[in-house]
Amino acid sequence: MRRNLSGLPPLREVIAAHGLQARKSLGQNFLLDQNITDKIVRLCGPLAGLSVVEIGPGPGGLTRSLLHSGALRVVAVETDSRAISALEGLQQAAGDDLALVQGDALEVSLPELCEAPRAVIANLPYNIATPLLLRWMKDLKGDPATYRFMALMFQKEVAERICAVPGTKSYGRLGIVSQWLCTVKVLMDLPPSVFTPPPKVRSSVVWFVPKVLEGPQPSFDAMERVTALAFQGRRKMVRSSLKDYAAHFERLGIDPQSRAEDLSVQDYIALAQA
Ligand code: SAM
Repeated sequence: MRRNLSGLPPLREVIAAHGLQARKSLGQNFLLDQNITDKIVRLCGPLAGLSVVEIGPGPGGLTRSLLHSGALRVVAVETDSRAISALEGLQQAAGDDLALVQGDALEVSLPELCEAPRAVIANLPYNIATPLLLRWMKDLKGDPATYRFMALMFQKEVAERICAVPGTKSYGRLGIVSQWLCTVKVLMDLPPSVFTPPPKVRSSVVWFVPKVLEGPQPSFDAMERVTALAFQGRRKMVRSSLKDYAAHFERLGIDPQSRAEDLSVQDYIALAQA
């Protein structure tokens, strides 16, 4: 259903009226161009029947685009009380289709927010983007139905780490854990100029679709442990950085002289299981 949101004031007016000047400490870089937020939503494909969780709606640009889509409803979690009051007009226009939750996204769990099926679409505050992602990966390991997909904005450098392949300098723990549990790809890159205020770096929207995992899998904690050990000494040979796992190398076909960045995601899964 497309909601009738005509008559809402432009986002810049909303920001001025509610004193919502961007705060760096809250990772506030707003998207005020509706063409860009509409494009992000369009790239996510059909949202019919899904509840969408948005983290950090801010003045509500992406929220407006989400409400224009076919999503069942939008649940938006925002920590800044100025943004909550700036969103009142949108809340009135959207009625029950928009639920605003004031709080810290790190403290709420997705199942608490709305019923499945759900998706997460957000221009994340960069200061908590990585812990949020790891949290959602852990939730997914606990319940593969936690979300159908996520489309999340990160600093480009973080997006590159999430999607990195072995043998590259961006390859590491974040990519291994993400690619273990999800198929990942960059949906779009965005220059600093499309944000208000512009950040220092480029940004990318990353798409995550949970994988159907076959066979026995290690625990999330075991996977975190082995990748932490390996990448503590990225340039060390695994016979030294992963010496506690050395008894399994031959059976798993792992060359003891290889380095952390040479091992595949599958190698790490096998080691974590061992
Ligand atoms: N979605 C808006 C947009 O695209 O214009 C704003 C995105 S801005 C990058 C990040 C938003 O996350 C801000 O509104 C900020 O207040 C909010 N935020 C920061 N830390 C948060 C937290 N711990 N929990 C929930 N929201 C948070």
